[in-house]
Amino acid sequence: MAGGGPAGLYLALLMKRADPSHRIRVIDRDGPDATFGFGVVFSEAALGYLGEADPQSYAAIERELEIWQDIVIVHRDVRMPIDGNGFSGIGRLRLLQILRAFCEDVGVELSFNQEFASASDLGSSDLVVIADGVNSILRDEYAPSFGPKIEHLTNRFAWYGTTKLFDTLTLTFRQTVAGSFVAHHYRYSPTMSTFIVECDAATFAKVGFAGMTDAESRTYCEGVFAPDLDGHSLISNRSIWRQFPLVENRHWWHGNQVLIGDALRTAHFSIGSGTRLALEDAIALFRAFEAVGPNVSAALAHYEATRRPIVDKLTSAALGSAKWYESIAEKMAIPPYTFAFDYMQRSGRVDEARLRAAAPRFMAAYDRSRATER
Ligand SMILES: Cc1cc2nc3c(=O)[nH]c(=O)nc-3n(C[C@H](O)[C@H](O)[C@H](O)COP(=O)(O)OP(=O)(O)OC[C@H]3O[C@@H](n4cnc5c(N)ncnc54)[C@H](O)[C@@H]3O)c2cc1C
Repeated sequence: MAGGGPAGLYLALLMKRADPSHRIRVIDRDGPDATFGFGVVFSEAALGYLGEADPQSYAAIERELEIWQDIVIVHRDVRMPIDGNGFSGIGRLRLLQILRAFCEDVGVELSFNQEFASASDLGSSDLVVIADGVNSILRDEYAPSFGPKIEHLTNRFAWYGTTKLFDTLTLTFRQTVAGSFVAHHYRYSPTMSTFIVECDAATFAKVGFAGMTDAESRTYCEGVFAPDLDGHSLISNRSIWRQFPLVENRHWWHGNQVLIGDALRTAHFSIGSGTRLALEDAIALFRAFEAVGPNVSAALAHYEATRRPIVDKLTSAALGSAKWYESIAEKMAIPPYTFAFDYMQRSGRVDEARLRAAAPRFMAAYDRSRATER
Protein backbone atom coordinates (compact mmCIF):
# COMPACT_ATOMS: atom_id res chain seq x y z
CA MET A 1 0.00 0.00 0.00
CA ALA A 2 1.45 3.36 -0.98
CA GLY A 3 0.02 5.55 1.79
CA GLY A 4 -1.23 4.61 5.25
CA GLY A 5 -4.29 6.84 5.59
CA PRO A 6 -7.74 5.32 6.22
CA ALA A 7 -7.93 3.81 2.71
CA GLY A 8 -4.54 2.05 2.68
CA LEU A 9 -4.71 0.79 6.26
CA TYR A 10 -8.25 -0.53 5.97
CA LEU A 11 -7.56 -2.42 2.75
CA ALA A 12 -4.38 -3.90 4.25
CA LEU A 13 -6.35 -5.06 7.29
CA LEU A 14 -9.16 -6.66 5.27
CA MET A 15 -6.81 -8.43 2.85
CA LYS A 16 -4.45 -9.75 5.51
CA ARG A 17 -7.23 -10.89 7.82
CA ALA A 18 -8.90 -12.77 4.99
CA ASP A 19 -5.70 -14.49 3.89
CA PRO A 20 -2.75 -14.42 6.32
CA SER A 21 -0.48 -15.80 3.60
CA HIS A 22 -0.52 -12.41 1.81
CA ARG A 23 2.55 -10.29 2.42
CA ILE A 24 1.27 -6.73 2.74
CA ARG A 25 3.33 -3.63 3.40
CA VAL A 26 1.96 -0.14 4.09
CA ILE A 27 4.40 2.71 3.48
CA ASP A 28 3.77 6.17 4.94
CA ARG A 29 5.88 9.26 5.35
CA ASP A 30 4.26 10.12 8.70
CA GLY A 31 5.24 8.62 12.03
CA PRO A 32 2.89 6.30 13.96
CA ASP A 33 1.41 9.15 16.01
CA ALA A 34 1.19 11.88 13.41
CA THR A 35 -1.45 13.06 10.99
CA PHE A 36 -3.07 16.21 9.63
CA GLY A 37 -6.46 17.58 10.65
CA PHE A 38 -8.59 16.88 13.73
CA GLY A 39 -11.85 14.90 13.81
CA VAL A 40 -13.95 13.46 11.00
CA VAL A 41 -17.67 12.78 10.79
CA PHE A 42 -19.45 9.60 9.73
CA SER A 43 -23.11 9.17 8.90
CA GLU A 44 -25.00 6.19 10.35
CA ALA A 45 -25.02 4.54 6.92
CA ALA A 46 -21.22 4.75 6.70
CA LEU A 47 -20.82 3.01 10.05
CA GLY A 48 -23.09 0.17 8.92
CA TYR A 49 -20.61 -0.69 6.13
CA LEU A 50 -17.71 -0.82 8.58
CA GLY A 51 -19.61 -3.09 10.94
CA GLU A 52 -20.26 -5.56 8.14
CA ALA A 53 -16.75 -5.49 6.64
CA ASP A 54 -14.73 -5.99 9.84
CA PRO A 55 -16.70 -6.30 13.09
CA GLN A 56 -13.56 -6.35 15.27
CA SER A 57 -12.14 -3.00 14.17
CA TYR A 58 -15.64 -1.55 14.03
CA ALA A 59 -16.21 -2.44 17.70
CA ALA A 60 -13.01 -0.57 18.62
CA ILE A 61 -13.99 2.44 16.50
CA GLU A 62 -17.53 2.47 17.90
CA ARG A 63 -16.23 2.76 21.47
CA GLU A 64 -14.54 6.06 20.59
CA LEU A 65 -17.40 7.72 18.72
CA GLU A 66 -19.10 10.91 19.79
CA ILE A 67 -22.69 10.48 18.59
CA TRP A 68 -25.48 12.98 17.96
CA GLN A 69 -28.88 12.94 16.23
CA ASP A 70 -29.58 16.56 15.28
CA ILE A 71 -27.43 18.95 13.34
CA VAL A 72 -27.75 22.65 14.09
CA ILE A 73 -27.62 25.58 11.68
CA VAL A 74 -26.91 29.02 13.12
CA HIS A 75 -27.71 32.00 10.90
CA ARG A 76 -28.19 35.57 12.14
CA ASP A 77 -27.80 34.10 15.65
CA VAL A 78 -30.91 31.92 15.23
CA ARG A 79 -30.10 28.30 16.24
CA MET A 80 -32.11 25.86 14.13
CA PRO A 81 -31.88 22.18 15.10
CA ILE A 82 -32.51 19.75 12.24
CA ASP A 83 -33.66 16.32 13.35
CA GLY A 84 -33.22 12.96 11.66
CA ASN A 85 -29.55 13.08 10.78
CA GLY A 86 -27.60 10.60 12.91
CA PHE A 87 -23.89 11.42 12.73
CA SER A 88 -20.81 10.43 14.74
CA GLY A 89 -17.39 11.99 15.09
CA ILE A 90 -13.97 10.48 15.82
CA GLY A 91 -10.46 11.93 15.90
CA ARG A 92 -8.65 11.26 12.65
CA LEU A 93 -5.51 10.29 14.57
CA ARG A 94 -7.50 7.97 16.86
CA LEU A 95 -9.09 6.28 13.84
CA LEU A 96 -5.66 5.76 12.27
CA GLN A 97 -4.21 4.46 15.55
CA ILE A 98 -7.00 1.88 15.80
CA LEU A 99 -6.51 0.74 12.21
CA ARG A 100 -2.71 0.65 12.66
CA ALA A 101 -3.06 -1.52 15.78
CA PHE A 102 -5.35 -3.98 13.99
CA CYS A 103 -3.01 -4.08 11.00
CA GLU A 104 -0.08 -4.90 13.30
CA ASP A 105 -2.14 -7.61 15.04
CA VAL A 106 -2.86 -9.44 11.82
CA GLY A 107 0.73 -9.11 10.58
CA VAL A 108 0.66 -6.23 8.08
CA GLU A 109 4.13 -4.63 7.79
CA LEU A 110 3.90 -0.93 8.62
CA SER A 111 6.78 1.21 7.34
CA PHE A 112 6.50 4.67 8.91
CA ASN A 113 8.61 7.77 8.21
CA GLN A 114 9.32 6.51 4.72
CA GLU A 115 8.59 8.90 1.88
CA PHE A 116 8.35 7.61 -1.71
CA ALA A 117 8.96 9.90 -4.67
CA SER A 118 8.19 7.37 -7.39
CA ALA A 119 6.75 3.87 -7.86
CA SER A 120 10.34 2.63 -8.22
CA ASP A 121 10.84 3.39 -4.48
CA LEU A 122 8.20 0.79 -3.55
CA GLY A 123 9.96 -2.36 -4.73
CA SER A 124 8.19 -5.02 -6.76
CA SER A 125 4.85 -6.57 -5.82
CA ASP A 126 1.83 -8.28 -7.36
CA LEU A 127 -0.43 -5.32 -6.58
CA VAL A 128 0.37 -1.65 -5.95
CA VAL A 129 -2.44 0.19 -4.19
CA ILE A 130 -2.10 3.94 -4.63
CA ALA A 131 -3.59 5.39 -1.44
CA ASP A 132 -1.38 8.44 -0.98
CA GLY A 133 -4.17 10.97 -0.73
CA VAL A 134 -5.31 14.03 -2.58
CA ASN A 135 -1.87 15.16 -3.78
CA SER A 136 -0.93 11.64 -4.90
CA ILE A 137 2.58 11.55 -6.33
CA LEU A 138 2.04 8.14 -7.91
CA ARG A 139 -1.21 9.13 -9.63
CA ASP A 140 0.61 12.10 -11.12
CA GLU A 141 3.59 9.95 -12.12
CA TYR A 142 1.23 7.77 -14.15
CA ALA A 143 -1.07 10.59 -15.25
CA PRO A 144 -1.25 9.47 -18.91
CA SER A 145 -2.62 6.09 -17.72
CA PHE A 146 -5.05 7.34 -15.04
CA GLY A 147 -6.16 10.58 -16.74
CA PRO A 148 -6.59 12.65 -13.58
CA LYS A 149 -8.58 15.90 -13.62
CA ILE A 150 -8.08 18.32 -10.74
CA GLU A 151 -10.01 21.56 -10.28
CA HIS A 152 -10.04 23.83 -7.25
CA LEU A 153 -13.13 25.35 -5.66
CA THR A 154 -12.84 29.11 -5.14
CA ASN A 155 -13.74 29.20 -1.41
CA ARG A 156 -10.90 29.01 1.12
CA PHE A 157 -10.90 26.89 4.27
CA ALA A 158 -8.65 26.13 7.24
CA TRP A 159 -9.08 22.97 9.34
CA TYR A 160 -8.66 23.94 13.02
CA GLY A 161 -9.44 22.28 16.33
CA THR A 162 -10.60 23.73 19.65
CA THR A 163 -11.14 22.61 23.22
CA LYS A 164 -14.65 24.09 23.18
CA LEU A 165 -17.01 21.10 23.14
CA PHE A 166 -20.07 21.42 20.93
CA ASP A 167 -23.23 19.40 21.55
CA THR A 168 -23.75 18.47 17.94
CA LEU A 169 -22.53 19.02 14.37
CA THR A 170 -23.12 22.74 13.87
CA LEU A 171 -22.84 25.01 10.85
CA THR A 172 -22.44 28.58 12.07
CA PHE A 173 -22.75 31.34 9.49
CA ARG A 174 -21.45 34.81 10.37
CA GLN A 175 -21.62 38.00 8.33
CA THR A 176 -18.86 40.53 9.07
CA VAL A 177 -17.89 43.84 7.46
CA ALA A 178 -15.22 41.93 5.52
CA GLY A 179 -17.67 39.32 4.18
CA SER A 180 -19.28 35.93 4.84
CA PHE A 181 -17.89 33.10 6.96
CA VAL A 182 -19.07 29.66 7.95
CA ALA A 183 -17.65 27.32 10.58
CA HIS A 184 -18.29 23.56 10.45
CA HIS A 185 -17.79 22.45 14.04
CA TYR A 186 -18.43 19.36 16.13
CA ARG A 187 -17.07 17.44 19.11
CA TYR A 188 -15.01 14.41 18.14
CA SER A 189 -13.64 13.34 21.54
CA PRO A 190 -14.42 14.09 25.20
CA THR A 191 -11.85 16.93 25.05
CA MET A 192 -11.72 18.25 21.49
CA SER A 193 -13.82 19.59 18.63
CA THR A 194 -13.13 20.13 14.95
CA PHE A 195 -13.57 23.74 13.82
CA ILE A 196 -13.26 24.26 10.06
CA VAL A 197 -13.46 27.91 8.99
CA GLU A 198 -14.53 28.64 5.41
CA CYS A 199 -15.03 31.91 3.51
CA ASP A 200 -15.43 32.95 -0.09
CA ALA A 201 -12.57 34.25 -2.24
CA ALA A 202 -13.65 37.90 -1.93
CA THR A 203 -13.72 37.72 1.87
CA PHE A 204 -10.37 35.91 1.92
CA ALA A 205 -8.81 38.72 -0.15
CA LYS A 206 -10.47 41.53 1.77
CA VAL A 207 -9.27 40.20 5.14
CA GLY A 208 -5.78 39.62 3.72
CA PHE A 209 -5.42 36.06 5.07
CA ALA A 210 -2.78 35.32 2.41
CA GLY A 211 -0.36 37.72 4.10
CA MET A 212 -1.07 36.56 7.67
CA THR A 213 0.87 34.16 9.83
CA ASP A 214 -0.90 31.11 11.23
CA ALA A 215 -1.29 32.86 14.60
CA GLU A 216 -2.73 35.99 12.97
CA SER A 217 -5.25 33.95 10.98
CA ARG A 218 -6.35 32.10 14.10
CA THR A 219 -6.75 35.32 16.06
CA TYR A 220 -8.84 36.81 13.27
CA CYS A 221 -11.12 33.75 13.07
CA GLU A 222 -11.43 33.63 16.87
CA GLY A 223 -12.80 37.18 16.59
CA VAL A 224 -15.32 36.25 13.89
CA PHE A 225 -16.56 33.27 15.89
CA ALA A 226 -16.14 34.75 19.38
CA PRO A 227 -19.83 34.15 20.28
CA ASP A 228 -19.41 30.45 19.42
CA LEU A 229 -15.98 29.75 20.90
CA ASP A 230 -16.78 31.10 24.38
CA GLY A 231 -13.19 32.23 24.93
CA HIS A 232 -11.60 28.97 23.69
CA SER A 233 -8.73 29.29 21.21
CA LEU A 234 -8.37 27.75 17.78
CA ILE A 235 -5.58 25.19 17.52
CA SER A 236 -3.53 24.50 14.36
CA ASN A 237 -2.34 21.21 12.93
CA ARG A 238 -0.83 22.03 9.54
CA SER A 239 -3.93 24.27 9.25
CA ILE A 240 -3.02 26.29 6.21
CA TRP A 241 -5.70 28.07 4.15
CA ARG A 242 -6.55 25.94 1.15
CA GLN A 243 -8.93 25.68 -1.78
CA PHE A 244 -10.67 22.30 -1.87
CA PRO A 245 -9.42 20.20 -4.83
CA LEU A 246 -12.02 18.28 -6.83
CA VAL A 247 -10.20 15.17 -8.05
CA GLU A 248 -11.42 12.56 -10.51
CA ASN A 249 -9.71 10.01 -12.78
CA ARG A 250 -10.72 8.72 -16.20
CA HIS A 251 -9.22 5.29 -15.42
CA TRP A 252 -9.05 3.77 -11.94
CA TRP A 253 -6.33 1.23 -12.59
CA HIS A 254 -3.66 0.19 -15.06
CA GLY A 255 -1.40 -2.85 -15.02
CA ASN A 256 -1.10 -3.86 -11.36
CA GLN A 257 -1.66 -0.33 -9.99
CA VAL A 258 -5.00 0.84 -8.61
CA LEU A 259 -6.24 4.11 -7.10
CA ILE A 260 -8.32 4.28 -3.92
CA GLY A 261 -9.38 7.02 -1.49
CA ASP A 262 -8.61 10.69 -2.10
CA ALA A 263 -5.98 9.76 -4.69
CA LEU A 264 -8.88 8.45 -6.78
CA ARG A 265 -11.43 11.20 -6.09
CA THR A 266 -12.39 13.70 -3.46
CA ALA A 267 -15.78 14.54 -1.94
CA HIS A 268 -16.25 17.96 -0.36
CA PHE A 269 -16.00 17.82 3.44
CA SER A 270 -19.41 19.49 3.83
CA ILE A 271 -21.11 16.14 3.31
CA GLY A 272 -18.61 14.45 5.63
CA SER A 273 -17.85 11.61 3.27
CA GLY A 274 -14.18 11.60 2.25
CA THR A 275 -13.07 9.08 4.86
CA ARG A 276 -16.23 7.07 4.36
CA LEU A 277 -15.57 6.85 0.62
CA ALA A 278 -11.94 5.96 1.24
CA LEU A 279 -12.93 3.09 3.56
CA GLU A 280 -15.66 1.92 1.18
CA ASP A 281 -13.19 1.91 -1.72
CA ALA A 282 -11.06 -0.44 0.38
CA ILE A 283 -14.08 -2.67 1.02
CA ALA A 284 -15.02 -2.67 -2.68
CA LEU A 285 -11.49 -3.59 -3.78
CA PHE A 286 -11.27 -6.33 -1.16
CA ARG A 287 -14.65 -7.72 -2.31
CA ALA A 288 -13.55 -7.58 -5.94
CA PHE A 289 -10.71 -10.00 -5.11
CA GLU A 290 -13.17 -12.16 -3.18
CA ALA A 291 -15.50 -12.20 -6.19
CA VAL A 292 -13.05 -12.96 -8.99
CA GLY A 293 -10.05 -14.55 -7.26
CA PRO A 294 -6.37 -13.67 -7.51
CA ASN A 295 -6.32 -12.53 -11.16
CA VAL A 296 -5.24 -8.91 -10.58
CA SER A 297 -6.52 -7.36 -13.85
CA ALA A 298 -9.88 -9.11 -13.51
CA ALA A 299 -10.25 -7.98 -9.90
CA LEU A 300 -9.31 -4.38 -10.69
CA ALA A 301 -11.75 -4.28 -13.61
CA HIS A 302 -14.47 -5.67 -11.32
CA TYR A 303 -13.65 -3.06 -8.67
CA GLU A 304 -14.02 -0.18 -11.11
CA ALA A 305 -17.17 -1.56 -12.74
CA THR A 306 -19.00 -2.13 -9.46
CA ARG A 307 -17.76 0.85 -7.49
CA ARG A 308 -17.82 3.68 -10.07
CA PRO A 309 -21.62 4.15 -10.26
CA ILE A 310 -21.86 4.39 -6.45
CA VAL A 311 -18.99 6.85 -6.23
CA ASP A 312 -20.44 8.98 -9.05
CA LYS A 313 -23.69 9.42 -7.11
CA LEU A 314 -21.95 10.50 -3.91
CA THR A 315 -19.50 12.83 -5.62
CA SER A 316 -22.31 14.52 -7.49
CA ALA A 317 -24.09 15.11 -4.12
CA ALA A 318 -20.82 16.43 -2.66
CA LEU A 319 -20.40 18.76 -5.63
CA GLY A 320 -23.93 20.11 -5.20
CA SER A 321 -23.10 20.77 -1.56
CA ALA A 322 -19.76 22.42 -2.37
CA LYS A 323 -21.38 24.69 -4.97
CA TRP A 324 -23.90 25.86 -2.36
CA TYR A 325 -21.03 27.01 -0.16
CA GLU A 326 -19.40 28.73 -3.14
CA SER A 327 -22.42 31.08 -3.32
CA ILE A 328 -22.41 31.79 0.42
CA ALA A 329 -22.35 35.58 -0.11
CA GLU A 330 -25.74 35.58 -1.89
CA LYS A 331 -27.20 32.93 0.43
CA MET A 332 -26.51 35.08 3.49
CA ALA A 333 -29.31 37.46 2.42
CA ILE A 334 -31.92 34.68 2.97
CA PRO A 335 -33.75 34.77 6.33
CA PRO A 336 -32.90 31.97 8.81
CA TYR A 337 -35.48 29.20 8.36
CA THR A 338 -35.69 29.64 4.58
CA PHE A 339 -31.88 29.60 4.59
CA ALA A 340 -31.76 26.35 6.57
CA PHE A 341 -34.43 24.79 4.33
CA ASP A 342 -32.40 25.74 1.26
CA TYR A 343 -29.21 24.44 2.91
CA MET A 344 -30.71 21.02 3.60
CA GLN A 345 -31.54 20.56 -0.10
CA ARG A 346 -28.11 21.65 -1.37
CA SER A 347 -26.81 18.21 -2.37
CA GLY A 348 -29.78 17.56 -4.68
CA ARG A 349 -30.54 14.30 -2.81
CA VAL A 350 -33.09 15.68 -0.34
CA ASP A 351 -36.31 17.28 -1.53
CA GLU A 352 -39.10 18.82 0.57
CA ALA A 353 -41.04 15.55 0.91
CA ARG A 354 -37.95 13.71 2.17
CA LEU A 355 -37.15 16.52 4.57
CA ARG A 356 -40.73 16.47 5.93
CA ALA A 357 -40.42 12.73 6.56
CA ALA A 358 -36.92 12.86 8.08
CA ALA A 359 -37.03 16.14 10.00
CA PRO A 360 -40.61 16.76 11.21
CA ARG A 361 -39.52 19.00 14.11
CA PHE A 362 -37.49 21.24 11.85
CA MET A 363 -40.21 21.38 9.20
CA ALA A 364 -42.81 22.36 11.82
CA ALA A 365 -40.55 25.23 12.91
CA TYR A 366 -39.95 26.15 9.27
CA ASP A 367 -43.70 26.24 8.54
CA ARG A 368 -44.32 28.45 11.58
CA SER A 369 -41.49 30.88 10.74
CA ARG A 370 -41.86 31.14 6.98
CA ALA A 371 -44.85 33.47 7.05
CA THR A 372 -43.20 35.99 9.32
CA GLU A 373 -39.47 35.88 8.71
CA ARG A 374 -37.72 38.53 6.62
C1 LIG B 1 -11.09 20.13 6.09
C2 LIG B 1 -11.40 18.69 5.84
C3 LIG B 1 -12.36 18.08 6.61
C4 LIG B 1 -12.70 16.76 6.39
N1 LIG B 1 -13.68 16.21 7.14
C5 LIG B 1 -14.09 14.97 6.87
C6 LIG B 1 -15.19 14.38 7.57
O1 LIG B 1 -15.79 15.01 8.43
N2 LIG B 1 -15.58 13.11 7.25
C7 LIG B 1 -14.94 12.40 6.31
O2 LIG B 1 -15.35 11.26 6.06
N3 LIG B 1 -13.88 12.89 5.64
C8 LIG B 1 -13.46 14.17 5.88
N4 LIG B 1 -12.43 14.71 5.17
C9 LIG B 1 -11.81 13.92 4.10
C10 LIG B 1 -10.80 12.94 4.58
O3 LIG B 1 -9.79 13.56 5.36
C11 LIG B 1 -10.18 12.25 3.37
O4 LIG B 1 -11.15 11.97 2.41
C12 LIG B 1 -9.51 10.93 3.80
O5 LIG B 1 -8.46 11.22 4.68
C13 LIG B 1 -8.99 10.17 2.59
O6 LIG B 1 -8.26 9.05 3.03
P1 LIG B 1 -7.04 8.48 2.18
O7 LIG B 1 -6.55 7.33 2.94
O8 LIG B 1 -7.45 8.33 0.78
O9 LIG B 1 -5.96 9.67 2.15
P2 LIG B 1 -5.18 10.37 3.34
O10 LIG B 1 -5.95 10.35 4.58
O11 LIG B 1 -4.76 11.70 2.81
O12 LIG B 1 -3.91 9.47 3.55
C14 LIG B 1 -2.86 9.43 2.62
C15 LIG B 1 -1.60 8.95 3.33
O13 LIG B 1 -0.55 8.86 2.37
C16 LIG B 1 0.64 9.36 2.94
N5 LIG B 1 1.47 9.87 1.85
C17 LIG B 1 1.15 10.80 0.92
N6 LIG B 1 2.17 10.99 0.08
C18 LIG B 1 3.17 10.19 0.50
C19 LIG B 1 4.50 9.96 0.02
N7 LIG B 1 4.99 10.59 -1.03
N8 LIG B 1 5.27 9.07 0.69
C20 LIG B 1 4.77 8.41 1.78
N9 LIG B 1 3.50 8.58 2.25
C21 LIG B 1 2.74 9.46 1.62
C22 LIG B 1 0.18 10.46 3.89
O14 LIG B 1 1.12 10.68 4.94
C23 LIG B 1 -1.15 9.91 4.42
O15 LIG B 1 -1.00 9.20 5.62
C24 LIG B 1 -12.04 16.01 5.37
C25 LIG B 1 -11.05 16.62 4.60
C26 LIG B 1 -10.73 17.95 4.81
C27 LIG B 1 -9.67 18.59 3.97
